[in-house]
Amino acid sequence: DPDLLTSRAWVEIDGAQLRQNLRLLQARLSPGTEIWAVVKANAYGHGAKLVAPLAIAAGAKGLCVATLAEGIELRQQGLKAPILVLGALNTWAELRQAMAARLEVSLTCAEQIPLMCQVARLAGRPCPIHVNVDTGMTRLGIPWTEAALLWGQICRIPELQACSLFSHLATADEPDSAAMEQQRTRFAQIVEQIQRAGDPLPSLHLDNSAGALSHLQGHYARVRLGLALYGLPPAPHLQVPGLQPILRLKARLTHIQTVPAQTGVSYGHRYVTHRPSRIATLAIGYADGIPRRLSGRLQGWAGGGLIPQVGTITMDQCMWDVTDRPDIQVGDVVELLGSHLDSALSRFQVQDWADQLGTIPYELLCGLSARLPRLLV
Ligand code: PLP
Repeated sequence: DPDLLTSRAWVEIDGAQLRQNLRLLQARLSPGTEIWAVVKANAYGHGAKLVAPLAIAAGAKGLCVATLAEGIELRQQGLKAPILVLGALNTWAELRQAMAARLEVSLTCAEQIPLMCQVARLAGRPCPIHVNVDTGMTRLGIPWTEAALLWGQICRIPELQACSLFSHLATADEPDSAAMEQQRTRFAQIVEQIQRAGDPLPSLHLDNSAGALSHLQGHYARVRLGLALYGLPPAPHLQVPGLQPILRLKARLTHIQTVPAQTGVSYGHRYVTHRPSRIATLAIGYADGIPRRLSGRLQGWAGGGLIPQVGTITMDQCMWDVTDRPDIQVGDVVELLGSHLDSALSRFQVQDWADQLGTIPYELLCGLSARLPRLLV
């Protein structure tokens, strides 16, 4: 029942804009480059169940998740597209489950090979692996200096189906990054070494959103796009005209009261009215993913205008000053994050929240909690 889902607080996903973002990004890539949609962490808070099939229908060729559970959940939903688990699976039980769910796994260190072979023999088919090479991120992956040799060995192991060789960029969001160029050079050197050895050339992928947008040629076979698909530029200098956020965060006003001047509002009375005020309560709080540290600094869009949030944000609710807005009533909807790129409305963009808090949009989006229903609009 959509009325029930929108009775309190919810996330709306603009499916048409997701398709448009995918089209705009595809046009930026080298011809033939596949987009794999990164839908880990509940599709950066957007709702993986909703976003993953939309991205595939819009032309993404595969999906990337971080964890085994994320991959299994998408499979159980009936998605047939390739799903790559980016995180390290080091145990027999994890690899067994990944195989059973027809997930593709990252080879993140050579020690996993015997286990993968065992699991493959038990399953009666080769284990599909993507070889993660550490070219400078220093997180996961085999050392880049060993990658070409190991690739040659892997290609000769019948229990392994070598799907791709990939790496991840650490500084792609920085303009003119020398460290990124070094990673690109190392990656290209691995490919040359494989060629020289006469081993089968892998399918390759290196770029995330910032890498794909900062480097306009040579995207290899595929790119792994997260943030840009969701419509956010991965860095201020990497704007794409027409790209728009696909997420709106909305909540409903559940209570309005008129109080005298000098009335304390919310925990700690950190806000005290300076005039007779109309205070409205909105049914969303930090348990939904609104950072409590933004207390008193949020703006919302209600009935065609901005309203200021006042007082401490509580777990499930927060208060707003609607003294100058007699039109606003209980039951009205307030938009907290929107797709309006107009600079006057920048106060309710996730980038603005991130700037105020000294973090990045990724962290705030991932923080939108499971309690919020995700609706396709
Ligand atoms: N590839 C890997 C290995 C990642 O960890 C991520 C996300 O952090 C991505 C691709 C997608 O990055 P972005 O959202 O910046 O496109």
